[in-house]
Amino acid sequence: MTQTYQKAKPIWCAGCGHFGVQGAIQYAMAAADVSLHETLLLAGIGCSGTVQNNVGAYGYHAMHGRVLPTAIGASLANPDLTVIAAGGDGDGYAIGGGHLMHSLKRNPNLLYVVMNNGVYGLTKGQDSPTRAIPRAAPEEDPLDAMLLGLAIKSTTFLARGITTRSDQLNELMLKGLQHARSGRGMALVEVLSPCVTYNDTYPDWMHKVHDVDADPDYRNSDRGAAFMRVLELVQESVLPIGLIYHGSHPSLQDALLRDVPPAKALDPGRSEQTRQYYEGVLEAYGV
Ligand code: SF4
Ligand code: MG
Repeated sequence: MTQTYQKAKPIWCAGCGHFGVQGAIQYAMAAADVSLHETLLLAGIGCSGTVQNNVGAYGYHAMHGRVLPTAIGASLANPDLTVIAAGGDGDGYAIGGGHLMHSLKRNPNLLYVVMNNGVYGLTKGQDSPTRAIPRAAPEEDPLDAMLLGLAIKSTTFLARGITTRSDQLNELMLKGLQHARSGRGMALVEVLSPCVTYNDTYPDWMHKVHDVDADPDYRNSDRGAAFMRVLELVQESVLPIGLIYHGSHPSLQDALLRDVPPAKALDPGRSEQTRQYYEGVLEAYGV
């Protein structure tokens, strides 16, 4: 096995939820038998972004809010790579919100882990789009990424875990990783990961979650029924956790790369064919 990076020690505050998220990512990689040298872990800007220092896979710290387009580029360039993107709710739902919508729409083969703590921890505690009751505008409702994902009809995997329920979180992370690696498209796994320093939501969230995995009436393969149930819960200020939606739709790779050999199979004789192919792709986008 190839040694990639020397693992760093986490620099998070004691009690930060991100320790549990890192543990779940590492559990999923081990359970799916994914090697470090076949994995690229990209991260956005924020406390959460330092996770890519701690795992030992190939890593890339993307520009603020741009982790998804960077991850998509990597996964298109090398379809054999296991691509995991990670970041916080500020990086993913505020500055990166546009990329999130378009990534869900395109359904690339990657796992995207969002560590949601309702706050910008790195810049000392401003409200993020998921803050339950924003301090400056208490009448404003928080963004719910599961509802957003359900409203985009090409989404294929949506899940939410919480760091206090590590067994369930580990399994959701593993299912998301397997979904992406099997070529079914993008898995969005949001983790309720409290910031103990600037927005300690542990006491609140412990009593505010509803586990749809334990709900016999919840149908995670029926987008319409899932949307209605998640909307009901959100309107009651309850946070649904579990496997929110699992469906099928052609992945971005299915749509774009079906006629192109994987990068590692390219030989000099094929480079002209590949150049022509990508020129065709650019033309299709009007570039
Ligand atoms: Fe975690 Fe908050 Fe500390 Fe950042 S400031 S490391 S999010 S507890
Ligand atoms: Mg945050």
